[in-house]
Amino acid sequence: MLKRIFSQVIIVFLVGIVIATLFTALTSQTLFGSEAIPMPYALPTGESSTQTTGNTSPSRPHIGIVSGHWGNDSGAVCPDGLTEAEINLSVATLVQQRLAEQDINVDLLKEFDPQLDGYQAQALLSIHADSCTYINDLATGYKVAPSLAGTQPERATRLVACIRDRYAAVTGLPYHNSITPDMTSYHAFNEISPNTPAAIIETGFMNLDREILTQHPEVIAQGIVNGLLCYLYNENIPNP
Ligand SMILES: [Zn+2]
Repeated sequence: MLKRIFSQVIIVFLVGIVIATLFTALTSQTLFGSEAIPMPYALPTGESSTQTTGNTSPSRPHIGIVSGHWGNDSGAVCPDGLTEAEINLSVATLVQQRLAEQDINVDLLKEFDPQLDGYQAQALLSIHADSCTYINDLATGYKVAPSLAGTQPERATRLVACIRDRYAAVTGLPYHNSITPDMTSYHAFNEISPNTPAAIIETGFMNLDREILTQHPEVIAQGIVNGLLCYLYNENIPNP
């Protein structure tokens, strides 16, 4: 009798293992196997993004990043000599590296880069930081403004919505609601191709947000990267 119970227990155990294995296989296939990678960016007809490799494939997403003031001037400057241009370049370089890791082609551009003339890409983002002067206790946080100059204002608005959402989530910085004419009439908006959606971000204030801007540029960069990926892959925004 005991022996029979024991063999029944063994059978139940074995059946359990088989079911668990099948279930795991089915579930993982549903979760990871059959979910197609979204392709929001327009592919040239006849090209497939899944079969191309190599860094210059025209079917890979293509983004332009302007490192604010790079090659031109220092931008805002702190009393101890810290410059906006160096903060921007450290962030922009990290953004470029992390997007490249996601198989995205990135042009890292100077403030008045000759390439900006007629520039074409899925998006252009110019990275800046705000004044190092102490203004008041509310002078903290980031700003993002779209280019309304081109033929793609609704895409530029979507780009900004993505960056706002993801940047806030990653960095924890508040949105500073004070878009200036410096941002909305940013020079590059009128230089690039009107078909390229564009935006400009002020990543934070160099005075009150100095620590995150200088000690954690990788967090700043990841917020921007997540925003650009949200835009490229048409990800959901919880509260647009
Ligand atoms: Zn600037």
